[in-house]
Order: sequence, then C-alpha cells, then structure tokens
Amino acid sequence: MISKIIAEDKIVKAKNLIYDAEKVAIVAHLSPDGDAIGASMALYHFLYTIDKEATVIYPDSYPVFLSWMQGINKSLVYDENQAAVEAVFNEVDLIICVDFNEPKRAGSGLAELINNSKQDKILIDHHLNPSTDTWKVAISYPQISSSSELVFRLICRMGHAAEINKFCAECIYTGMMTDTGGFTFNSNNTEVYYIIGELIRKGINKDEIYHRVYNTYTADRMRLMGYLLANKMRVYPEYNAALMVLSIEEQKQFNFQKGDSEGLVNLPLSIEGVIFSVFMKEDTDKIKISLRSQGTFPVNQVASGYFNGGGHLNASGGESYHSLEETIKIFEDILPTYKELLIQA
Ligand code: 5GP
Ligand code: MN
Repeated sequence: MISKIIAEDKIVKAKNLIYDAEKVAIVAHLSPDGDAIGASMALYHFLYTIDKEATVIYPDSYPVFLSWMQGINKSLVYDENQAAVEAVFNEVDLIICVDFNEPKRAGSGLAELINNSKQDKILIDHHLNPSTDTWKVAISYPQISSSSELVFRLICRMGHAAEINKFCAECIYTGMMTDTGGFTFNSNNTEVYYIIGELIRKGINKDEIYHRVYNTYTADRMRLMGYLLANKMRVYPEYNAALMVLSIEEQKQFNFQKGDSEGLVNLPLSIEGVIFSVFMKEDTDKIKISLRSQGTFPVNQVASGYFNGGGHLNASGGESYHSLEETIKIFEDILPTYKELLIQA
C-alpha cells in the first residue's frame, strides 16, 4: 500500500468528472518531455480502458526518442494541425492538463483554447504555484517527483488499478524515470520503488525502456556532446557553476534535431564541486535556457528572476530575448549575487 497523497475530495471530484465525460482532451506542455508525454499517454490508455474517447494534444512536436510509445502516433500536435485541435476542443466535455501549472505553458494558441473553453478542466501536475482560476480540480503536488506518478496514484485511488495495462504502465514508468534522471535525483521516496514494483508486475521491461529512451542517440548528437564538453563548457570554480552555450550556427554544423540538447545541461554536474549548471540554446526568436542544480540551490528562483521562466528547485527553464552575448553576461553577473548560496549548497 502507498500513502494517500492526493486529497480524497480531489479524487472524488476528478472521478466524477471523468465518469461523466465521453470525450476528453489531454494537454501537455510546450516541448513535451518524458514526464509530460508519459503522464498524458498513460491517461490516454487508461481512459480507453474505461470506454472514454481521449485525444492527446501536444503544443509542439515530441522528441524522436519517445516515438516508440504506444499510441503516441494518434496524438495531435497543435503547431502542425491547429484546425484538428480546435475541432477536438469544440467536441470534448472535459480537459485534463498534465505536467504544467498554468495555461501559458502550453503556448499562446493552446492557452487561449484552454482559457476560452467552457468545459471543466482538471490539472495533474507537480510544479509550484498552479494558476488558481483555471481548474475545477487541481491535483497539484510539487513534492511528488513526476506527474506520471500522480497519474498512477489517481488511477489507483479511483479504484482502477486493474485497468492499468502494460502500455499504460510503460508510459508511467517513462515519466517517473525521465523526471528523476533515471532515479538519480528527487528519488529517495521509498514509494517510488513500490510503484515501480507494481509497474513491473504489469509486464513492463524497465531495462528495455531505459535503453529505448537513453541509448538511441544519433552519431551527430554524440559528436555534438563531445564538441560542447571539449570546446564550449565554461566552468566557474569559485562559484561551483558551469555554463554551456549552443549557437544556431553550431546546431547546423551538427545536423541538430529536436531533442538533441535534452540532458546536456546535466553533464557539468558530474564535475566534482559543480552544483549549478546552465545550458543556453539559441533559437531564431529567443534563447532557451535550462538550469539544473544539486542540493538546495534554487534554480527556479534564478529562472523566474532573470529568465522569464520557472520550474522546480533543481530543474528549471526559461527564455531570454537578448543576444547570446548579453544573455551570457546576465548569467555571469548573477553568480556573485548568489555566491554565498552557491558555495554553501
Ligand atoms: P528543461 O530545462 O528540461 O526545458 O525544463 C526543466 C523544467 O523547467 C521543466 O520541467 C519545467 O518545469 C521548467 N520550465 C522549462 N521552461 C520553462 C519556461 O519557459 N517557463 C517556466 N515557467 N518553466 C519552465
Ligand atoms: Mn514533470
């Protein structure tokens, strides 16, 4: 048995909304990651087993290393087919948003559809500070390391543990695994391992899932990683910090594909002493920033304070609308401000 993290009244309300619905839209966040995709696809499989018609909607395309997931080819990508997504929104009687805390994290177009929809909305998420006026039920528990784990907990508490099939279990496992870096951070809760035991009993092959997600790099991606580590990694030993920056030019040089920079931000954390790592990726209209830390250093404060973003204590993201050089300067200016925290963390 695992403890009842989700409040009973939320379970009852969510269950009633789901039982009463016929057609459900499941929405995840921009640049969907393993947890966003795992949680949304797990819900999709579950809803079908209880005879609901579910459509998973992603704001933009999902990474190739998750394309093996059963059912993902039935999902809709808003950027690629807005008309189809709008048609789904016109038909559904329930919207479930997973792995993000406020509509704008689904991108402006989808956020507008969510905000304008009269249908009830359920949130299943683990980010801090969920928006308050959007959700009929907000299943928001930042202490839980993945939204996929929350989906498992919700389904079980609804009394449907038996309806978690192998495909659903694979999706849940993928989300739990990727949001904890393969159970290397945020993963000391013993219940995580109880849940994994249950998922293995459902028939998943956890070793195979690890292999499918992490051991499918292209040679270009591997070379890009080597190039960045050898030539682009700046280490700031006096601040226990590191920075890597990837320009558009370099992306062309390495035949960059969506998802190729996933996880690169974690690499400098393998250096002894480094507890704060930042990765900047130049896009045509902005610079996308990933921030990671070890211990108590709050990268979400840095992301929201300086880079128009947010996230978790140890994993956050944001954006900059300045040039690459200016953005690097902002980062380097931040370091002295946080020196005490960086040195003691
Ligand atoms: P990543 O570095 O993998 O893109 O993002 C790590 C985490 O930071 C995400 O799971 C999400 O919680 C958060 N995050 C990423 N980008 C943004 C952003 O632009 N705004 C906010 N509020 N959070 C973000
Ligand atoms: Mn997540």
